[in-house]
Amino acid sequence: MSETKKFKTETKRLLDLMINSIYTNKEIFLRELISNASDAIDKYHYMSLTNDKLEAKDYEIRLALDKENRTITITDNGIGMTHDELVDHLGTIAKSGSLEFMKKLEENKDKNIDIIGQFGVGFYSAFMVAKKVVVKTKSPFDDKAYSFTSEGTDSYKLDEIEKDTTGTEITLYLRDNTDDENYDIYLEQYKIEKLVKKYSDYVRYPIKMMCKRMNPTYDEEGKFKESVETLEDTTLNSMIPLWKKNKSEVTDEDLNSFYKQKFNDYEDPLFSMHVNVEGNLTYNALIFIPKKVPYDLYSEDYEKGLKLYTKGVFIMDKCKELIPDYLKFVKGLVDSSDLSLNISREILQQNKQLSLISKNIEKKIISELSKTMKTDYDKYKEFFKSYGVYIKYGIYDNYGEKKDDLKDLLIYKTTNEEDYISLKTYVNHMKDGQKYIYYASAGSKDAVLSMPQLDLLKKKGYDCLILTDGVDEFTMSILNKYDDHELKNINQGDLDILDEDEKKELEAKQEDNKEFLEAIKKELDGKVSDVILSKRLVDSPVCLTSKDGLSFEMQKVLNAMPNGSDAKAEKVLEINPNHELFNALKKAYDNNELKEYAELLYDQALLMEGFPIENPVEFSNKMCNLMIKTIK
Ligand code: ADP
Repeated sequence: MSETKKFKTETKRLLDLMINSIYTNKEIFLRELISNASDAIDKYHYMSLTNDKLEAKDYEIRLALDKENRTITITDNGIGMTHDELVDHLGTIAKSGSLEFMKKLEENKDKNIDIIGQFGVGFYSAFMVAKKVVVKTKSPFDDKAYSFTSEGTDSYKLDEIEKDTTGTEITLYLRDNTDDENYDIYLEQYKIEKLVKKYSDYVRYPIKMMCKRMNPTYDEEGKFKESVETLEDTTLNSMIPLWKKNKSEVTDEDLNSFYKQKFNDYEDPLFSMHVNVEGNLTYNALIFIPKKVPYDLYSEDYEKGLKLYTKGVFIMDKCKELIPDYLKFVKGLVDSSDLSLNISREILQQNKQLSLISKNIEKKIISELSKTMKTDYDKYKEFFKSYGVYIKYGIYDNYGEKKDDLKDLLIYKTTNEEDYISLKTYVNHMKDGQKYIYYASAGSKDAVLSMPQLDLLKKKGYDCLILTDGVDEFTMSILNKYDDHELKNINQGDLDILDEDEKKELEAKQEDNKEFLEAIKKELDGKVSDVILSKRLVDSPVCLTSKDGLSFEMQKVLNAMPNGSDAKAEKVLEINPNHELFNALKKAYDNNELKEYAELLYDQALLMEGFPIENPVEFSNKMCNLMIKTIK
């Protein structure tokens, strides 16, 4: 049986990109194919633990170089592929990231950065060095074996073949040498040995190759006689997984290259941690935080989790029990000897050991982050700009269960400081007599500085946190306090900022103007729940605030949710009794013209708060009338 199938368009594009790649780091094709082979053996081994049909065997990955035919062959005795898997895995790119990958590749093709493999296109990297690729494979779940042949054209060929042993054999027919590129280098034993050491040393299965060795012989007097060439079956890699090595033996460079390869990133991670824990709980872990936010982190399909190994055996790719939701951007792996090998996924969910490891890792990440905050603030800021919103979410989540662990990781821009500061720094910088920590939601520092609600704070020199994320106010309301200082939204409730005399004076004024304020409220019936004299305005005539509880910002966030609630914050119109407008309004009240002006006032306050006005045409008409009246 032989069939010719067309590549999916996307795959073909990717293939073309590989074929035409001027990417300088072509050598990583070997790493990619060895990594696939190792994954395939992992899968086989894991299945063999629970499936009687599959016997454990001596696993190996074998490399063979053929100078005459100019081929490299990579063979594994892993899980192989069924007919359908061949079509699905090599004929199609099912992964949504591929397009993104291609874009990246095109953008970066002049730069020598390692983006191949970032989106799981490892196999196709073979076409950077090969003009033809033949894959022979046998799966234990398919009676027949198949070959897949592609010469990088629109279509590929599938043939039924004879193959007794399960596993996969991939043969690359190297491209012809060009003036710029010498592909023959990959037929040299020393080069392959070097590449395996460089990229695949810790692969847990032996990577074997028949190697020529020169053996010197000596005469009776011990003098060199001649060199005899022998052929030896050699294991090229040390096989000790990086995470099992002693911390002192592992360099940052090792961690970085491990991360890039295992987690398909082309940049070094922002953070890496090597954890060896022994005692009641025993595990090794490698933990990474990517420098760039993973492109699919916000997507619903994003799966959090760490790779899980037990006693060096791969169990699963994304064990979600190992990492809390708010740290979903963390990548890494855990190898624990405390778990049984054939642990099933259901048991994982309620496994005590696993949840202890998870808690332990979470603690270590938090403490590493707080350490970085002290030792390398720039790096911490970089972290926070990318992932701060998840820390905020972590505080808010589960009714604030984690807030005490996380609150010191928060940093904010503020109206008084140039740089981001922590809540602790805010408190340290608080002015004499300042009781509260103030915050305001707005897009930028300038926007906050121009908010009328900030008037009195500015006058007193109090600092104000600038909140820019949707989750911010929810986090604030769950936090409620920091160091016994209540957190206060500057456009909500009573700022409690006046001294006793000022308060008394205002209350008296409020009483004197009761009727007038009531009249405005009546004109704005249903729109505002109260009209009061402001305790926060200094220069501005008027502002809108909300009562304690739901804030305007929260209302906006809630209303924007997919199945949005129509929650409404209660609006309070605040008028500055020391502003000229106040007296003008009173005149309008005396002249029975209050209605028009009250509505104008309200619309202006709405605009300042970033709300749409209910009737823009009416608003405009009123403004026109006013202009006609006043321009004499
Ligand atoms: P990735 O390895 O990131 O999934 P690849 O393009 O390298 O992407 O491989 C696509 C798929 O092809 C793999 O996920 C795997 O299912 C299958 N595959 C590749 N190489 C092998 C192999 N040596 N043995 C079994 N399956 C393989």
